Order: sequence, then C-alpha cells, then structure tokens
Amino acid sequence: CGIIGYAGHRPAVPLLVEGLRRLEYRGYDSAGVAYLQNKGLQVVRAEGKLKNLEHCLTECQHLQATCGLGHTRWATHGLPTTQNAHPHQDEGQNIALVHNGIIENFQELKQSLEAKGHHFASQTDTEVIVHLLADNLGHQNTLPKALAATLHQIEGSYALACIHRDYPNEIWAARHSSPLLLGVGQGENFIASDIPAFLSSTRDVVFLEDGEVVRLTPNSWEVFSAADMQPVGKTPQRIEWD
Ligand code: GLU
Repeated sequence: CGIIGYAGHRPAVPLLVEGLRRLEYRGYDSAGVAYLQNKGLQVVRAEGKLKNLEHCLTECQHLQATCGLGHTRWATHGLPTTQNAHPHQDEGQNIALVHNGIIENFQELKQSLEAKGHHFASQTDTEVIVHLLADNLGHQNTLPKALAATLHQIEGSYALACIHRDYPNEIWAARHSSPLLLGVGQGENFIASDIPAFLSSTRDVVFLEDGEVVRLTPNSWEVFSAADMQPVGKTPQRIEWD
C-alpha cells in the first residue's frame, strides 16, 4: 500500500512507476496509475507485480503527461482484482483517486449514493470517496470545497490523493491516520506515503499531519486545515538519508 503523486515538467508516468517501486517494501497485491493527457483522464491498472502494470503501460502513449498519481494496493475490502485496483474514478470520469487505509462507514455511504443513482464499479471501500466527491462537486462546488465536504462525511483512516480533468497539473491530497508527505522540488512537487518514493528527485520534505489537506502544482504547494480550509503554515525540512 503506497501512494505517489507528481506535478511537474518531466514525464510523470516513469517517475510514478519508479516511486511505486521504491514503495514496494510496504507490500501490495495490485497497482495502478492515472494521468491527464489530451484533456482526458487515463487510468491503467494491473493485478500482481509492478511489471504487469509496466507491461500494460508499454501500450499507452503517456510521455506527454506531466501530472499523475500512482498506487499500490493492499486489499482490505474486495478481492485483489484489476477492477478493485486504484485509481478509482467517478462515473463522469472527471476524477481519479487513490487511497490507502479503510473507510469505516463505506456501507452506509454506498447505500445512500446508490439510492441517488450512483453505480459502483468495484467492491472497494475506496470507491465511495470518489462518488461522494463527484456528488459534492455536482452542487456547483469547487474541488477544494467538495473535497472538504467529502472529508467531513468519511470516517476511518486515509491517505488519499486525486486529480480532476478540469484542474490540470494540480493534485489535491489529504490524510487522517495514514502516512502522507510532500516532496518539494524545483518546478515539480511530489506527494507520497514515504520519503524513498521521491528521494532521487528531492530531499526537501513537508510532513503532513492528520486533518491536513494539500494542493500541489508544478510551482506551488499549499497546506490547509480540512476543518475550515484555512491555510496552515509549513516549512520544508531537508532530509539526510543514505
Ligand atoms: N481499503 C482500500 C482497498 O481495499 C485501500 C487499501 C490500501 O490501503 O491499499 O482498496
């Protein structure tokens, strides 16, 4: 179970796969990436080892994409299949989302979303998050407002990150009881579950606390409190690591 996100100027997908490889020690049963290309979201997922994902990616033209997310899954809800692998998408295919952790109240959320007409494509607890986000966005909200509303509705543990078709080169992420940190580069920024994921690109790290949300673009990063979406002051630390 690992998360990596990249917003920058270099081809994102090779960096995402490299980041996932450096998170392999955490264990996983499937893997996937999402990236924005030609104004559409592309999602590629595979059961088993990262080489299966890499094999699928050889058939995709992804080198233009400079923003994306990667995930290795350790299944907690739903079998370790391709369909249950992350990233998950909303029905409109506007959002791609990755998650580590467990959403405790996913059953009741899923029931109420299904009653509103949402159709689910996986057996995961995670998929409720992306449907909720789409639902909240539907009420003429901006992505940060919809994300804050969604975080108020979900219970459990999470490190999560999402990209949206209408917010190119932008990643939004949040954490509660699961690790997530920010790697600050030059004209590029990373989000990840652990430092090795981006260590070959930067040693400047911002540690996120529970209840924090972060927005990153190639040239900026900002941390907010999920409670009121007010900015939180943070300073990067330079990591010494062999
Ligand atoms: N609970 C989620 C799932 O089963 C995330 C698992 C993980 O942390 O990788 O899909």
